[in-house]
Amino acid sequence: MKPVRIVFVGPPGSGKGTQGARVASEFRISHLSTGEMLRQLRDQSDDDCKFSSYTEGSILAPDDLMIELVAERLSLPDCQAGWLMDGFPRTLSQAQAFDGYLNHHGDQITRVIELVADADGIVKRLIERAKSENRPDDTPKNIVERLKVYRVRTKPVLSYYRDRDLVTQIDAMQDIDSVFADIKKCIARS
Ligand code: AMP
Repeated sequence: MKPVRIVFVGPPGSGKGTQGARVASEFRISHLSTGEMLRQLRDQSDDDCKFSSYTEGSILAPDDLMIELVAERLSLPDCQAGWLMDGFPRTLSQAQAFDGYLNHHGDQITRVIELVADADGIVKRLIERAKSENRPDDTPKNIVERLKVYRVRTKPVLSYYRDRDLVTQIDAMQDIDSVFADIKKCIARS
């Protein structure tokens, strides 16, 4: 089987992190969460404000920084067997730069999985997550802002990949096991 290279695209609260961890373990590939990378940088940094404005609000981190972080991570040996991108690319420029990187390395995305979720369901989920995971970015005001950022900045990424016939939509409002089963089927077919 050729290396599995999957991109998850979905609004905050659509289950990218939860499903990403399960898929990575099932297919023995690396789970790359750019949100997690930023939270680690925030925890290691002396200059708290620099990264906390990205991890605690609704502002996207700069494209250059994200591309650099992803490229650095992908060069590590554990990514050679395959990877799952969770939270990247989040803008059209990131998607274009990512293509440049992949072409340069002779790699290709196997499939883009869109986790489809409705706004009301997401707000409920994120408010629950704020209680259980202590995520400072899951406040009601931030949730509305982050959904808007998703609509305006990230949705164009889906059109970009749809034009290349790479996108499969999965209903992310099902229970966790059913979403996982659908994702597994989709990857196995790819
Ligand atoms: P997440 O854990 O994926 O919800 O990411 C948390 C926050 O980190 C997001 O709301 C963004 O502000 C920032 N972030 C994560 N990934 C990216 C990315 N690819 N580009 C820009 N900002 C990002």
